[in-house]
Amino acid sequence: MSLHLFNSLTRRVEPFAPSDPDRVTMYVCGPTVYNYVHIGNARPYVVFGVLADLLRRRYGALSYARNVTDVDDKINNAAREQGVPIGVITSRFAAAYREDMATLGIAPPDIEPEVTAHIPQIVAMIQQLIASGHAYEAEGHVLFAVSSFKDYGKLSRRDPDEMLAGARVEVAPYKRDPGDFVLWKPSTDDLPGWDSPWGRGRPGWHIECSAMAAAHLGETIDIHAGGVDLQFPHHENEIAQSECAHGGRIFARYWLHNGMLTFGGTKMSKSLGNIEKIHDLVRAHPPEALRYALLSAQYRQPLEWSDSLIEQCIRTLDRLYGTLRDLADVDASAWIPASVDAALDDDLNTPSVLAEIARIAGEARKAESLDDRRRLKSELLGAGLALGLLQQDPAAWFARGASDDDDARIQGLIDERNAAKKARDFGRADAIREQLAGEGILLEDTPQGVRWKRG
Ligand SMILES: [Zn+2]
Repeated sequence: MSLHLFNSLTRRVEPFAPSDPDRVTMYVCGPTVYNYVHIGNARPYVVFGVLADLLRRRYGALSYARNVTDVDDKINNAAREQGVPIGVITSRFAAAYREDMATLGIAPPDIEPEVTAHIPQIVAMIQQLIASGHAYEAEGHVLFAVSSFKDYGKLSRRDPDEMLAGARVEVAPYKRDPGDFVLWKPSTDDLPGWDSPWGRGRPGWHIECSAMAAAHLGETIDIHAGGVDLQFPHHENEIAQSECAHGGRIFARYWLHNGMLTFGGTKMSKSLGNIEKIHDLVRAHPPEALRYALLSAQYRQPLEWSDSLIEQCIRTLDRLYGTLRDLADVDASAWIPASVDAALDDDLNTPSVLAEIARIAGEARKAESLDDRRRLKSELLGAGLALGLLQQDPAAWFARGASDDDDARIQGLIDERNAAKKARDFGRADAIREQLAGEGILLEDTPQGVRWKRG
């Protein structure tokens, strides 16, 4: 079995083969940095990060680009509302985004292009589109002419009439065709803008990904990925821009789209006010449990997000880290089992990898010989590594990120309780247990002594 991926372009699961095995290329649409990123937006970064790791193991060389959108009307609005310069908004939320990603164990991409650093490439691509008859200037705007690209709609499989029927926005009078989209628009003095052949202005949203993918990864890339909500119009427009600017050469060979997070069956969206920000979630829950939860469904499926899902993931990780703690005396390094690679080869079947992890841990708990315990610990660590899980010290997991000082205080109370028990002062021993229970610290008497964890 080799890596098979569901390609949204063909609507089929296909074997993956890069154009150049010495340089596999992947582009994932990144965030617009005007606010904290919500957990639904972390799903593609977690899932396609797992894919990036897999591609690196298979091919050695991967160029993975994930952009940061730092010019956008949402940013302008946020700056105006908060009465601060635009750069304050973008640098604050780009930093928060990078911090949140690191907390969820998402490695940075190889290339993290920012739109404002690629204006010349964007302008050049727009010029190319005008020169080849795919774009036109109107009232300080430059628009892409969708009727000039016969394949428009090939990704989302919408026909142009249907797309129009769905458009509820008022059509700007300067558009030749209501489906035409903005490549460049004029900026007033109070808005970010750059000089261009069409006057001072700024790029539309879609052109940035086409220009930055070409600049860093080449005209044809192997994999383009993102949330299914980006398929239309964003990804459809990226295809139109790139393929028209590059003489019809295919833009992305494999298109991958992850499903949305839902809340009580409803899509997580700003307008519904059911957004859960990563920034808040990681302060309320162990980040690794959030990562586990995001991988608990196959990426193309919708994922129902709930507190009970998080609780269940915490309990599962308690069990797995408990197994690793019991194997603390065994020296072993991570080794990824073939069964895990096979599950990932099956269109990134992460639930199946998690089932493998549970099975290996179950076997490890029953294993008696040193050889078996060593082998199973290697497999458990390796299976976890493939998903970016189980790589902490078990003690760190059970401490739930508490400070060393606090750990020392808790251990001090436990020692005092042990001493009280020895002195048959059971009243004092029970009082300490109750005090700790009140703080959510659970004690467990084991043959190796008393262990504690945060409940
Ligand atoms: Zn994009």
